[in-house]
Amino acid sequence: MKESKTPNFDLLLDRILKDLIPHERVCLDCKIEFKIEKEDIDFLKMFRCSAPKLCPDCRQRNRLAFANYSNIYKRKCNVPGHTDTMISPVAPIMPWITYDHETYYSDLWDPIDYGLEVDNDKPFFDQYLDLLKKIPQPGVRRGSNSINCDFSFYGKNMKDCYYLFGGRDSEDIMFSSSIYSSRHIVDSYFLRKVENAYENIITIDCFKTKYAYFSSNCVECDFIYDCRNCQNCLGCVNLRNKNYCIFNEQFEKEEYFKKREEIDLGSRATFDEYKNKFWKFVKTNPVRATRLLKSENCVGNEIIESRDCTNSYQVSNCENVRYGAFAIMNQKDSMDIGHSGSSGRFYNCQNIGTNSSDIKFSFAIKECLDCEYTMSSTNCRNCFGCVALKNASYMIFNKKYEPNEYYKRIDQIKTKMLEEGTYGEFLPMNFSPCAYNSSFAHVIYPMTEDEAQKRGVFWQKDVEADTKNLKSLNANELPDNISEVEYNICDVAIIGEYSGKPFRLIKREIDFYKQNKIPLPVDTPYQRMLDRFTILNNFKIFEETCYSCGIVIKSAYKKSDGYKPYCGKCYQQEVY
Ligand SMILES: [Zn+2]
Ligand SMILES: [Zn+2]
Repeated sequence: MKESKTPNFDLLLDRILKDLIPHERVCLDCKIEFKIEKEDIDFLKMFRCSAPKLCPDCRQRNRLAFANYSNIYKRKCNVPGHTDTMISPVAPIMPWITYDHETYYSDLWDPIDYGLEVDNDKPFFDQYLDLLKKIPQPGVRRGSNSINCDFSFYGKNMKDCYYLFGGRDSEDIMFSSSIYSSRHIVDSYFLRKVENAYENIITIDCFKTKYAYFSSNCVECDFIYDCRNCQNCLGCVNLRNKNYCIFNEQFEKEEYFKKREEIDLGSRATFDEYKNKFWKFVKTNPVRATRLLKSENCVGNEIIESRDCTNSYQVSNCENVRYGAFAIMNQKDSMDIGHSGSSGRFYNCQNIGTNSSDIKFSFAIKECLDCEYTMSSTNCRNCFGCVALKNASYMIFNKKYEPNEYYKRIDQIKTKMLEEGTYGEFLPMNFSPCAYNSSFAHVIYPMTEDEAQKRGVFWQKDVEADTKNLKSLNANELPDNISEVEYNICDVAIIGEYSGKPFRLIKREIDFYKQNKIPLPVDTPYQRMLDRFTILNNFKIFEETCYSCGIVIKSAYKKSDGYKPYCGKCYQQEVY
């Protein structure tokens, strides 16, 4: 047997794992009972961890509290001598020292200068927080090679984007998130190889699609749901290889275009009429209980070309992933991960990727190996409790050790944590760079300000809008038809129909709406994003019975919500 580098920890952990059998336990946070299953235990043995004390939802919430995919603020730049403000996803209330993009990624400062000596008498997380409080953090996280993307964050190889959160190799994207290899996109989520699209959710290989959901290989279609290889269709559900259909009714080509000509979706009134009709129509049709494409032995939803993935959502090309959600790509042998990929062996991680492996309880790192509790770092090995490092190894709290000394110290720290019961959970939510209500967690697991206060997590109160000196207009006073809109509307603060909050339009988006005959939006970008997530409300699966044959199935849709979930077999009979 290989000699252990952390003998005390391993001895104690082996004792714990030896007695660990599948069981139910009560979540320390929400008090709901959850299962520790045999497969969980297999993972725990691989990752060398004791069983989680939080249920899968609370674990996911804590991770997502670190990711902000929708809110930006004006924030002071804390570089000494700088008096400017920057546009940042880090809310003004956050106490962290944040540097502007250029300085943060420069050699003007050294994260090692902030290193702390380990204090064995002090709890690990207290010391980690001491480090977090004094070290600079990125006010702007944006991948390299992105051009003209000032109001956009994360992502790589992006060009001319505005209000974009995450993506790759794309151009001319506005108010969207998770956009890959796409161009000319507005108000969309999770697109792959799509061009000229508006309000699309999970579409692949599409061209000129508006209000398109869970569809692929479609061209010039508006209001489609789970369609494939369709062209010139309007208001259609579950169609395959069709042309010229309106609400699933087949028309001759000329007749289709004649009818289509009469429907002007550039008018808000007509648009609303069709929108209502469409969503009613979706509910009268069968819906696939879960969408698992070219996947084997998977449980979850929106799983593409994957194997052995369980309780996972929006994953593609993955293998052996458990509790993985939100754009997990090319990932192997991992559990409890969000927005990560191109790597293997992660446990309890958020926003990690690019050839990393053996990572635990970490956030926003890439090209890293064997790291735990590490944030915002690149190309590191054997780091524990570190922040903002580059090309580092054998570090604890950003302080360097000889390998032997490093293992000796982490053996002490981890053993103590294991004894105290603090080893094995993700970073505390108040370590997050962003306020809870600006995080993605708040979208999926909304919390009130009171609750946030009680939990000691940060909450950003509404900041006074820049629009206070502008003339304002209620959304329902906007011109009905996009053809009537004049560009001086950009100088007006529009009051969101549902949110009641002000927002402004920019010339570029009006150009897009005019070109594609889309009525002006009636609410803030944030509210529009929330609306998209209501449509996407399928990060959970329920026990249901197939609407057609009655067998018990796992379904992302509930009959009690008015849907007709079909098992895979029945759906295929009905649709293909
Ligand atoms: Zn819980
Ligand atoms: Zn069935």
